[in-house]
Amino acid sequence: MSRENSLQKCAALLLFLTPAFAQYDLLLKGGHLIDPRNNIDGPRDIGIQNGKIAEVAAAIDPSRARKTIDAAGLYITPGLIDIHTHLFHTTGIRDAWAGDASVQPDAFSFRSGVTTMVDAGSSGWRNFETFRHTVIDRVQTRVLALINITGLGMMNDVTEQVTSDFQPKEVAAIAAKHKDVVVGVKSAHYQPPDWLSVDRAIEAGELAGLPIMVDFGYFLPERPYWKLVTERLRPGDISTHMFRGPVPWVDSQGKLYDYLKQARQRGVKFDVGHGGQSFVLRNAAPAIAQGFWPDTISTDLHAHSMNALMMDMPALLSKIMALGMTLKDAILRATWNPAQEIHRTELGHLTPGATADVAVWSLLNGSSVMATPMEAESPARSGWCAK
Ligand SMILES: [Zn+2]
Repeated sequence: MSRENSLQKCAALLLFLTPAFAQYDLLLKGGHLIDPRNNIDGPRDIGIQNGKIAEVAAAIDPSRARKTIDAAGLYITPGLIDIHTHLFHTTGIRDAWAGDASVQPDAFSFRSGVTTMVDAGSSGWRNFETFRHTVIDRVQTRVLALINITGLGMMNDVTEQVTSDFQPKEVAAIAAKHKDVVVGVKSAHYQPPDWLSVDRAIEAGELAGLPIMVDFGYFLPERPYWKLVTERLRPGDISTHMFRGPVPWVDSQGKLYDYLKQARQRGVKFDVGHGGQSFVLRNAAPAIAQGFWPDTISTDLHAHSMNALMMDMPALLSKIMALGMTLKDAILRATWNPAQEIHRTELGHLTPGATADVAVWSLLNGSSVMATPMEAESPARSGWCAK
């Protein structure tokens, strides 16, 4: 047999062995899909082609895919969207959120089922482009950003008090220039007893057509929290760190305050933002027990929270499920709900045609131990959560 004949025969054999008409690059077979956007909570096979979801069906024949992964016994969800993270780790500044306290996205995202991270205002309108150049454009994780209302973002607490640097027009201009990655405006850590940081952020949000997220920072009698959520924030704006200690949750009888429901009725969104010590059990437990659940579950990932009580998204989901939320409800709050809040409705679901951001999970049942700060200002340096 000539060498040419032999090669032809070999090629024919390969053609025979490889699914000749394989439509899909990848098939996830036998898993349990939770896709709240499409109201799916059951067994589904998923075909993926060119990085997009091609088919979701009860059964897809493996001969239609070049590669099949056996997902039997596993859960499949859209890749999680974490709308509160700190990723501007390239400034070289010691002890700053936009500095050593930020983390490199790829080192924390995929290993915890997260495919989209939103940096929550680590950079401001003056240094956002440095953040983009040194982080956003260099990583595999989809990184989006809230722009801080102050110019230098979270370099330290001082920069967030420089009211002359609160410039809505500048923020809106940066948001328009980088609209592929900018999804909102941030106000955080503001100390004076007025509303300037919040009001300027809202002004920027109006100009840019984007939501704002507020970390209320210092709780002062002159600007009570209830006014923030029932009067100041617009529908679609986000109050993060919802379970922080100073947030008034329950009256002396242990009943939830009405203002919270009024705020929700107005369309204000409540976000977890666990962080180092912003998930206080005496607030979170009655809130979840009385049905006031977070709209979104986010980590406030930074170099301190990930080594302390928060750890990562799976640990946080476990913690909230331990307080009474179902898996499906928790996944909704880490996929489709955050996608809608940041106006990125192409994300957070596995509809055919959507980007194939997929997470595959095993759910471990058993007892776990979790630690949580009982008081807002209590030190929260150690703790763990089994998952
Ligand atoms: Zn934060």
